[in-house]
Amino acid sequence: MTDVHVGGCVCDALRYRTVGAPRRVSACACRWCQKRTGSALGISVYFDKHAVSFTRGKLKSYRLVSDAGRWIESAFCPNCGTTVGWTLEFLPDFQGIAGGTFDEPAFWYRLERFVYARSKPDWLAIPDGLEVCQGMPASTGR
Ligand SMILES: [Zn+2]
Ligand SMILES: [Zn+2]
Repeated sequence: MTDVHVGGCVCDALRYRTVGAPRRVSACACRWCQKRTGSALGISVYFDKHAVSFTRGKLKSYRLVSDAGRWIESAFCPNCGTTVGWTLEFLPDFQGIAGGTFDEPAFWYRLERFVYARSKPDWLAIPDGLEVCQGMPASTGR
């Protein structure tokens, strides 16, 4: 059976569809995720590129170059500003989806790891059972 999930931005102009299981699911407390979400962490759900389709609306994108000198390109709704996903230079075959943007059941995937733990707020405890990286993960899972 194929596992299909859909989601989108807050104004509903932008919609996407994912097929199958994600390749990687991380909670990330890097400064980029914090700025992008306005929150303490982002949830990154990575799929193979071909498993994600943007089914409605027109994405706007913004590319920035990280401290490591590699680009991150976020995709967001030009109307409401919700970031629904991104692509990374170092994971060219992956499409990242912002984990909070899925329709119900929003958190259907299993969280595997917590990355950039060094910049998480002190009051945020990391749940048991996750792989924890202080900074960027050493392996990409490929
Ligand atoms: Zn929108
Ligand atoms: Zn991050």
